[in-house]
Amino acid sequence: MTDEEVVRIMHAHFEGLFPRGCPTCGRYFANLRDYILDTELIGDTISYDVELCDWEPEEPLGAAAFANCPCGTTMVLTTRGIPVAQLHGVLRWVRDETGRRGVGHTELIGAVRDEVRRRALGSGEKLGIVPLPAGGPAPAAAAPEA
Ligand SMILES: [Zn+2]
Repeated sequence: MTDEEVVRIMHAHFEGLFPRGCPTCGRYFANLRDYILDTELIGDTISYDVELCDWEPEEPLGAAAFANCPCGTTMVLTTRGIPVAQLHGVLRWVRDETGRRGVGHTELIGAVRDEVRRRALGSGEKLGIVPLPAGGPAPAAAAPEA
C-alpha cells in the first residue's frame, strides 16, 4: 500500500462520518471540513492495534482521534467501518514505513491525519500541518572494513 492509498482510504472514511452533530450542544458539522475548523484537536491519534503491535488483528480495535466541540464536549472519530482487509493493509504500511523511514508510529499516523485534514480543508486554511515523512531507501548497512 502506498502513502496515497492510505491517505485516500482514511480521507474517504472520515468524510463519510458526516454530517454529524455534537451530542451535548447539538452543533451541526455538515462535513469533515466544518468539523476540523470548528473543533480543537486533542492529543495524538491513537491506533490501538499499533499500540499492541497487532498487525493483522481478526477484529481490529481501530484508531481514534479526539477533538473538543466549542461547548467543551470531547468528540471522537474512529476507523470503525473500514473493511478489515483495508485496515490490515494500512497496519502493514505503518509497520513497514516506520521502520523504513525511521519515524515513530505516532509521528507517521499523525502525518496521515494531517494530510487528511489538509485535503479536507482544500486550499486556503493553514493549520501548521506537517507533510508525511519522506520515504526513501533505508540506509545501507555498510560492511565494516576488516
Ligand atoms: Zn458541543
